[in-house]
Amino acid sequence: MRILIVEDERKLAQVLVTALQGEHYETVVAPTGSEGFLRANAEAFDLVVLDLMLPGRNGLEILQTLRQRHLQTPVLILTARDGLEDRVLGLDLGADDYLIKPFALPELLARIRALLRRGRSPEVFRLKTGDLELDLVTRRAVRGDRLLDLTVREFELLEYLLRHQGHLVSREMLAREVWREPRRATPLDNVIDVQMARLRKKVDAEAGQRLIHTVRGVGFVLKEGEP
Ligand code: CA
Repeated sequence: MRILIVEDERKLAQVLVTALQGEHYETVVAPTGSEGFLRANAEAFDLVVLDLMLPGRNGLEILQTLRQRHLQTPVLILTARDGLEDRVLGLDLGADDYLIKPFALPELLARIRALLRRGRSPEVFRLKTGDLELDLVTRRAVRGDRLLDLTVREFELLEYLLRHQGHLVSREMLAREVWREPRRATPLDNVIDVQMARLRKKVDAEAGQRLIHTVRGVGFVLKEGEP
C-alpha cells in the first residue's frame, strides 16, 4: 500500500512517515502543493493524506482538480480546528474523510485502515431514517437540510443507533460496541447518558419530530414516531 503525504510542516510529515512505515505502508512526502499535485497526478497511490494549508497550491484546489480528472484515490484531508468551512468544502469536493489538527496517531491510522478497506470492498455507505441521513464515506450527518456538526464519538453513536433503528439499544450494548471498553473502573452509564444528551440536542433540538427516544431504565431507540 502506497500513501502520498502532502504536508508542508516538516516535523508533522516526519511523524506521519514514521507512523505509517511502522504499519508497513510505503510513504512518499510532497512538501508543497505543486509537488503534491504533480505526484498524485502522475503516480499510483492507494491513498492521499492532504493538508489543506499549503504553500504554492492549496489542498482544496488540488483535491478539486484531481477529482475533475476522475482520480478516485481516497483522500483524507487534514484541517485546522477553526476550518469548518474548509472541511465541508473538502467533503463536497470529494474528500473521503478528514481529521482536525492536532490529532492522535491511532485515530489517523484507524481512519486510513478504514479508507483502504472501503476501497477494496464497497458496502453500505449510507444509513437513513426519516429526514436523517448518514454518509459513512464522507462521515457527514444531515437532518433535513441541516448539516450536523458531530464529534467522532457522536457520529459512531448515531451510526450504531441507525444500524439498529427501531430496536432497543441498551447501555451495555453501547458500552461494548461503541466505547469498546466494557471493563472500566468507573461506570460508563453517565458518560453514555451525557453523550446521548448532546447527540440528541444536535439531532432533534431543531427538528419537528424526535428520532432518539429514551426507554426509561433500559436504553434508547431511534425511530420515527413514538417508541
Ligand atoms: Ca500546512
